[in-house]
Amino acid sequence: MFDKILIANRGEIALRVIRAAREMGIATVAVHSTADSDAMHVRMADESVCIGPPPSPQSYLSIPAIISACEITGAQAIHPGYGFLSENAGFVQIVEDHGITFIGPTAEHIRVMGDKITAKDTMKELGVPCVPGSDGGVPTLEDAKRIGEEFGYPVIIKATAGGGGRGMKVAHNADEMESAFMTARAEGKAAFGNDEVYIEKYLTTPRHIEIQVFGDGKGNAVHLGERDCSLQRRHQKVFEEAPGPCITPEERAKIGKICADAVARINYIGAGTIEFLYENGEFYFIEMNTRLQVEHPVTEGIFGVDLVREQIRVAAGLPMSFGQDDLEINGHAIEVRINAERLPNFAPCPGKISAYHAPGGLGVRMDSALYNGYSIPPYYDSLIGKLIVQGRDRDEALARLSRALGELIVDGIDTTVPLFDALLQEPDIQSGEYNIHWLERWLEANM
Ligand code: ADP
Repeated sequence: MFDKILIANRGEIALRVIRAAREMGIATVAVHSTADSDAMHVRMADESVCIGPPPSPQSYLSIPAIISACEITGAQAIHPGYGFLSENAGFVQIVEDHGITFIGPTAEHIRVMGDKITAKDTMKELGVPCVPGSDGGVPTLEDAKRIGEEFGYPVIIKATAGGGGRGMKVAHNADEMESAFMTARAEGKAAFGNDEVYIEKYLTTPRHIEIQVFGDGKGNAVHLGERDCSLQRRHQKVFEEAPGPCITPEERAKIGKICADAVARINYIGAGTIEFLYENGEFYFIEMNTRLQVEHPVTEGIFGVDLVREQIRVAAGLPMSFGQDDLEINGHAIEVRINAERLPNFAPCPGKISAYHAPGGLGVRMDSALYNGYSIPPYYDSLIGKLIVQGRDRDEALARLSRALGELIVDGIDTTVPLFDALLQEPDIQSGEYNIHWLERWLEANM
């Protein structure tokens, strides 16, 4: 096992990794920008290294600075968290070239899954059902129009390098194709330096269901059921739950096995998420994320496992501590993403926290790097906390969420908490009847 690991991230996810490492007796190194000298992850780690000025490209994305921090502190492995360099195959290659272990999949797996066209091709070959659409990239507008006719509108044009909801445009008819095609390409080029796009049938009432998988890199893999992440704003998740309210045990076992078998066949190592759209009882693959996800705690809750501990174990060459038969679902878990944002427009709202109090009690987990008097810097993601609750069933989890939101105090800034208070009053949320468009429509009508 490693003696010391470096966490190439900040905020709540850096704390999450530090906590797992500490329980395993592993020393931790935090890295931080000058804007984060007072951040909680710096205070909580055993050691810290300042790696640059506030803008991420000069600090949290600076590969030379992070490698140097490893060399200086003698850290043997790097945990990337999510975002930043977590899905950067070039980074993984450099880490390995320096004799440091990357706690995550191989550069090759990240490369294949990071390009959505090759990811889809690979999954198709591995027997995973995909959204109908173009066979690979669509180079010209004429091709795009032909595919639109062939599959029937609406279709969605997606940048192969896209992520975070960017580089995606819907065309409802042939007239909309030109602008959608050009915009998706331009966004792909601007945000990811790659203007290749592909086209999928646009599903009109699907749910977003994702399967958590975990592999040991030696041909063994398990699935840890699904998460329903259908409540989204601008293709970004805001509320996640497990198990999915509409997924039967038979469906779970079937799609779970398809996913576990697929990643086992490619010797996948560590945590991964295979994302699907789910409509009329069918699953359609959209993409795979080769990292720990923001919403991993709901899965940890219902299965009683520590996914970060497991990631560190397999990275160190140890076997997984559970097999498929050990994994049983217990109750229901819900996570809400608390962002420093001002409603109704969700404008970023950084600033000083004048008072912070985290909820507690049975079945409540608050993953956050906030503390009293902390100043949220304006340079980074607006996620400031995740409130995760668990109950014996969905109704109990909902009641607990309402109770815990009532206890939470974040004064000094605006947050997305009022959104969740309002959502919990909605019959569709109470019954679990929502799809990927529900929240956008609700926001239009109510905010
Ligand atoms: P990103 O990598 O940017 O997160 P994804 O491919 O994972 O993009 O898609 C994000 C979200 O966009 C999905 O959860 C869904 O809401 C919507 N979406 C993606 N593909 C389709 C599709 N073919 N039909 C309908 N909605 C889609």
